[in-house]
Amino acid sequence: MKKGLFSKISMIFVSVVMLFCGCKTNFTATVYSYSDGFMTENVVTLNTLSPSSLLTALANAQVITSTVTVNSFAENETNGEKHLALDVNSALSQHLSPLDIQTQDMIIRCIANTFIMNYSAADILLTCDGTPIKNEKYTYDLPLKFRTVSISLEASPTADITGSPSNTPSETVLPNTTPPSTGSATAKPTPFVTPNRTDGKKYVAITFDDGPSAQYTTKIVDKLKEYNAGATFFIVGNRVDSKTGAAIKYATDNGNEIAIHGYTHTFYYNKCSDSDYENELSKTAQVIEQYTGIKPTLMRPIGGAISKERITSCPYSVILWNVDSEDWKNKKDGQVDTIVNNVMSTVGDGKIILMHEIYKNSYEAFCIIIDKLYAQGYEVVTVSDLIGKDNLKPGTKFYSAN
Ligand code: ZN
Repeated sequence: MKKGLFSKISMIFVSVVMLFCGCKTNFTATVYSYSDGFMTENVVTLNTLSPSSLLTALANAQVITSTVTVNSFAENETNGEKHLALDVNSALSQHLSPLDIQTQDMIIRCIANTFIMNYSAADILLTCDGTPIKNEKYTYDLPLKFRTVSISLEASPTADITGSPSNTPSETVLPNTTPPSTGSATAKPTPFVTPNRTDGKKYVAITFDDGPSAQYTTKIVDKLKEYNAGATFFIVGNRVDSKTGAAIKYATDNGNEIAIHGYTHTFYYNKCSDSDYENELSKTAQVIEQYTGIKPTLMRPIGGAISKERITSCPYSVILWNVDSEDWKNKKDGQVDTIVNNVMSTVGDGKIILMHEIYKNSYEAFCIIIDKLYAQGYEVVTVSDLIGKDNLKPGTKFYSAN
């Protein structure tokens, strides 16, 4: 009887523990994909962290096919470093074999980075039905390892295939879901307070991450000028040179806002060291001031990822978004309309739209989007104009103006 009662209590205890663990949904994972020779970081929400959920996320990001499944997965810790071993089925080698060697390299790096990042591991041995992938077909060193994510995040040696600058680091990061209205790290969002608001008008901010771009920044500004509109550009400091520096100056001269994203686009602000975090922000702020003469007041973390402590102590307002164009996912020919629809189906008064200024499709979609927004009675304004400078206190996080 006592034993039965004890086991019942144990079961209840286990159930409660499992319930709590089970409720721990919305694991924020980093998934690497590739395009045009560049590695791309994407922040996605998974129900749980598991090797198969990461493979599914990689399939969703079109890195691998959904037929790639886990044979076995092991985590070993030695000298405080975690080493992973992932064995997948032969669907991976079937997926890779028709592709050119650079694409194969990118795919393997994407898989390795994704696992290393999410399991906080030092390296990974990737095998396909027991055979190291590399050994089987490729020219990499054995065993296949990427010692750190930051190394893998550098532009691939094959990055020149698109003619893009080889010193350009990884692109893009972004939550693929609208940020939740609950659980935000700071106080409730400020109510809608767009200054100089005219009754009957709707206001929206378009934000561009990951620039400046020698190709598109100036063209975006020119399109904005047609409407006397403004946008906010969250830039990557080490992408500023004399040409792109002139582009951001041109942007501020025409009523736009230049803000901080990061200096190298290789650190997540919820994970990196204090010195890396401070360097990323301060060096970017310096570059912005150097080229535009204006001190930035806004910051958007890489991937939208930042710890609560760093939000509250941040000397800038932390700006997220609640309309995701998903332009980074739609870079192929014929996908401009998808980007336009992603925005137009979710846009609303007071919202902040996320785009990237480095892709051709993004620029083309933006031109259509702004035409549509004005046709629907919106004014496109900077984040500071949308939320109001007085409301944009440092150490506060905003998804929108309302
Ligand atoms: Zn970014």
